[in-house]
Amino acid sequence: MTVQFSKTYLESVKDTLYCDAETSPARREAVFLLELTLRVMLYCLYPFTPHLVHQFLKACSLSLTPPVFSVGMPSVWDEVGALRNQVNAETEILRQAKLLGKNTEAKVTLLGLPLPQEQVVDVLGVSEVKVGTEFKVELHDGHKCPRCWKFHRDATELCPRCAKVEQTA
Ligand SMILES: [Zn+2]
Repeated sequence: MTVQFSKTYLESVKDTLYCDAETSPARREAVFLLELTLRVMLYCLYPFTPHLVHQFLKACSLSLTPPVFSVGMPSVWDEVGALRNQVNAETEILRQAKLLGKNTEAKVTLLGLPLPQEQVVDVLGVSEVKVGTEFKVELHDGHKCPRCWKFHRDATELCPRCAKVEQTA
């Protein structure tokens, strides 16, 4: 739970939750999964702390509807976790050589994508992911978006996603 959910999933959706438009499908998907996780946790806690769970449900105007008996992380997360470890090992080498600060300063070339490209970018916490013939982690040479701190190739101040969100806000 701590490693796969807190360290991996929450890190990967942080940017989507903070910076995507409130109605964007990716943000709604993340909120849905977080709420589902909360419900599963409440369901697990219920036999041990029923009054606490009742108070929480009442305070949040939620109800606990069974059956939510088996929710697990899909097996693709094993592959994603291994990829994340591989990329983090490379970014750590660059960081120790003082070439890189945060992962958002990196662009990554992968041999294939285990998830849609945008999700891989979020899971790895980098600014860009592309597919190529050789695994590579490099410093991104684009511009840093002042809103989401990711790097992008456009010469404008905000990245296209943030510019769109700011326009509709
Ligand atoms: Zn941005």
